[in-house]
Amino acid sequence: MRYDVIIIGAGPGGIFSAYELMQKRPDLKIAVFEEGNPLEKRHCPIDGKKVTSCIGCKPCSIMNGFGGAGAFSDGKYNITNDFGGTLYEYIGRDKALELMHYVDEINLEHGGAGTRMFSTAGTAFKKLCMQNRLTLLDASVRHLGTDINYIVLKNLYTEMEPHVDFFFRTPVERIEAVDGGYRVWHADGDDEASQCIVSVGRSGSKWMEKVCSELDIGTKSNRVDIGVRVEIPATIFSDITDELYESKIVYRTEKFEDNVRTFCMNPNGIVVNENTNGIVTVNGHSFEDPEKKTENTNFALLVAKHFSEPFKDSNDYGESIARLSNMLGGGVILQRFGDLERGRRSTVKRIRECTVHPTLAATPGDLSLVLPKRILDGIIEMIYALDKIAPGVANDDTLLYGVEVKFYNMEVQLDENLETCYPGLYVIGDGSGVTHSLSHASASGVYVADRIAETL
Ligand SMILES: Cc1cc2nc3c(=O)[nH]c(=O)nc-3n(C[C@H](O)[C@H](O)[C@H](O)COP(=O)(O)OP(=O)(O)OC[C@H]3O[C@@H](n4cnc5c(N)ncnc54)[C@H](O)[C@@H]3O)c2cc1C
Repeated sequence: MRYDVIIIGAGPGGIFSAYELMQKRPDLKIAVFEEGNPLEKRHCPIDGKKVTSCIGCKPCSIMNGFGGAGAFSDGKYNITNDFGGTLYEYIGRDKALELMHYVDEINLEHGGAGTRMFSTAGTAFKKLCMQNRLTLLDASVRHLGTDINYIVLKNLYTEMEPHVDFFFRTPVERIEAVDGGYRVWHADGDDEASQCIVSVGRSGSKWMEKVCSELDIGTKSNRVDIGVRVEIPATIFSDITDELYESKIVYRTEKFEDNVRTFCMNPNGIVVNENTNGIVTVNGHSFEDPEKKTENTNFALLVAKHFSEPFKDSNDYGESIARLSNMLGGGVILQRFGDLERGRRSTVKRIRECTVHPTLAATPGDLSLVLPKRILDGIIEMIYALDKIAPGVANDDTLLYGVEVKFYNMEVQLDENLETCYPGLYVIGDGSGVTHSLSHASASGVYVADRIAETL
């Protein structure tokens, strides 16, 4: 066989499995097949001037290419078992944390040194949250920032490139089990290896489903998170963001006892479009570079929707809601909180007169025409709860962008080694449904690489 290990996908999961294998077993021949471009060729055409909204590039430079979906992310590296995935259910809590710290060290060695680590340990906000039906989840957060995250990825690639064969713009079409290993069929032909690590992330979710169905590997899927991205003046949330940077706060609604949570907080950041399978949703970034900082902070408020039998396609449900916002707004819809509360749409004039200036050009509209009532009620309740710990969140001029959807890949049936029922075929990262974050995805890559390094 031409290779010992073939890795599909060059996101954090794929990168850290390749890096770890290169360190532990320099004798192995490793290939990485990636649908997207090398890092330096990844450019989203949205410039805010000529191109203001997503034009559906294939492959999408935000989601695909070296660095995966995390390449232009805020680089918030959360070290915790409380959120970001359920890797600990497979490998144990201590091992999961150990590997997240290990990856953090590698990031520091490759350009991340000097970045800040925030922690919820001992913070007074915990009590304040509890007094207002809110729960602050425990975590340590390394904030690399979009710019340093890029440098770390560049340095990792430079170190790996002489030892690992990278094939960019080479999507893998099919995996075939052959005698002694796996044959992957890709855009330029086929290649074989005795071990195969699949790390195709969220953008590869549909493809992953197809592979599981062809190879008869079990899957289950029942969750999608739906909500909005909130944008407020940074000063309103500064007490919290200065101390904790990224805080994960959960609110239990009075009406339905649903959980609403904050997600992906970007102090002094910008709101951005995200394109998943042609559907435009919203997300956020922030930068370490002081020149790129804005006067606003943004974060998502999400409600988890779990489905039971017979409905199986939770992602389709999320996509349908996002499609509705795309139909009404041609993309993302923007509404003032005051307009939402008064039951009226936001207009260009009302947004122009708003004291909070939007950082994303989105279409003023009415989110109540898009989001199911139960979800919207939960979000409104949480905005009032947050207003108690950070007065000003429930202001009329608070901006809401919709919709934000967090798609979860279906969970692939794996054993405690993240191995499928096929020996030597591993599924890691967000594509496995086990992880939903940079830290958990990277740690899963190291874990599988260590096992291969020991056993091969
Ligand atoms: C805008 C944005 C901001 C984010 N911010 C954060 C953050 O601050 N902190 C955090 O923890 N997480 C964040 N995330 C989530 C984080 O990026 C992901 O959890 C993480 O990247 C998952 O890593 P992965 O390797 O599993 O998958 P991915 O990063 O999605 O990488 C998968 C790779 O596989 C490739 N691929 C897919 N199918 C194929 C195929 N058939 N053949 C070949 N290649 C294929 C894709 O092109 C992609 O490059 C963010 C995500 C986005 C989109």
